[in-house]
Amino acid sequence: MERIIMNDHRRLGRELGIFDTDPLIGSGLPYWLPAGAAMRKAIEDYVHELERRNGYQHVNSPVLGKRELYERSGHWSHYADDMFPPMNVGGEEFVLRPSLCPHHALIYRRRQRSHRELPLRLAELGGQYRSELSGVLGGLTRVRSISLNDGHVFCAPEQAAAEVSAALDLIEAAHARLGIRAARYRLSLRGDGDKFVDDPVMWARSEAVLREVLKERGQPYEEERGESAFYGPKIDIQIADPAGRESTLSTVQVDLYMPERFDLGYVGGHRPAMVHRSVVGGLERLVAHLIEVHGGAFPAWLAPVQAVVLPLSDAELPAAEDLLRRCVAAGLRAELAPADRGSLGARIRAHRLVPYQLVVGPREVASGLPAVRLRDGSQAGEVPIERLAAEARPLI
Ligand SMILES: [Zn+2]
Repeated sequence: MERIIMNDHRRLGRELGIFDTDPLIGSGLPYWLPAGAAMRKAIEDYVHELERRNGYQHVNSPVLGKRELYERSGHWSHYADDMFPPMNVGGEEFVLRPSLCPHHALIYRRRQRSHRELPLRLAELGGQYRSELSGVLGGLTRVRSISLNDGHVFCAPEQAAAEVSAALDLIEAAHARLGIRAARYRLSLRGDGDKFVDDPVMWARSEAVLREVLKERGQPYEEERGESAFYGPKIDIQIADPAGRESTLSTVQVDLYMPERFDLGYVGGHRPAMVHRSVVGGLERLVAHLIEVHGGAFPAWLAPVQAVVLPLSDAELPAAEDLLRRCVAAGLRAELAPADRGSLGARIRAHRLVPYQLVVGPREVASGLPAVRLRDGSQAGEVPIERLAAEARPLI
C-alpha cells in the first residue's frame, strides 16, 4: 500500500489552486493557476532582486536553438537521451533547449571582453526541456518543461573559488527566506562512460576548486560518483520530501569545458572559467517542496492571498470594500469574504491559511484600522495596512 503523505504536493497543490494538469496538454506539462502564479511571481521578484543586489545582470534568451548549438556545447554527444528530437523547419533543425548554458556562452561571446568586465554574472529565469517518459512524470517534481532560475558567471580561473562561495551564500540566504532546510550537500563527481567529457586533467582542476570552497566554508558534504554534469563537477544542495525521497534543488558547478568549446576568451588571450549556478532550482520543484514544507501555510511574502477582509455584518460592507481597495493599492494580494458567506468563525476557517485576517466591525469602521487576526489565532490589534504590506514584501 502506498504510504499516504499528509502534505503531498500533488493533492494539496490542486486543492489550493496552485497548479493542475490536463491530458490534452500532456503529462509532465503542468499549468499554474492564479494562486500558483502569484507565488511564482513573488519568488521571481525575490530572486531577481537578490541577484541584482549581488552583481548579476539579467538577460532573456529563446527556449530553442539550432541543433548545431547543442553539438557545439557537447549536449548532443553527452545528453541527447534527455533531449526532445529536433524539429525540421525549412531544412534547418531546431531543438528545445536542455539547458540555458549555451545561450549564455554566446551572449558572453558576442563581443570582445576585457579582464575588467570579469566576473561577468548573467542570470535568467528561463524555460528548459527534458524528454522524460510519461511513466515517471507526476505533479511538479518530474516535469518536461522546467522554469529554471539559472545563472552563469564568466570569470578568470583564479576567481572561480570566490564565485562558487558567493553563489553558496546566495543559496543559503534564499533557503532561509523560503523556510527551506537542506537535507545535505553533495559533491557530485563524474562517473565512467561516455556521458562524461573525457579529460581527466580538466576534471581534476574543476573538482579542486569545489573541494577548496567546501573546506574553506567548513561545509560537511558527501561525495557521489556519476552525479555530475557531463562537463563538470557540481555542489548539489539536496532536499528531501516528507517520504524522505531526495532531489537536487540548488546547484553550483565549475565548468572549464564549455569555455573551450565556445572558444571564449578575454583580452590577453586568456580563457575564462564558467560557474553555473541555480539559487532556487526549477520553480516547479521549488513550489512542490514549499507546499510540502509549509503545508499551505506559506510565509506572508509568499502566500497566494496575503490578507482577507472580513466584515462582521452587511453594515460594514462599504468600509470593508474600501479597506480591500487600500490593501490592493498598498501592494497586498487581498480578497474580501463578505458576511453572506457565513458566520465570522466559518469564514475564518475557510481562510485559515491566509496570514492576515482583517476583521471589520463598528469599532474598526470608526477608527479606520482593521483588527488584525493572525493565522495562529493571535490578535495583532489595529495595524495600519502599510505596515502589513511592508512586512509582506519579498526582501526586507
Ligand atoms: Zn549552465
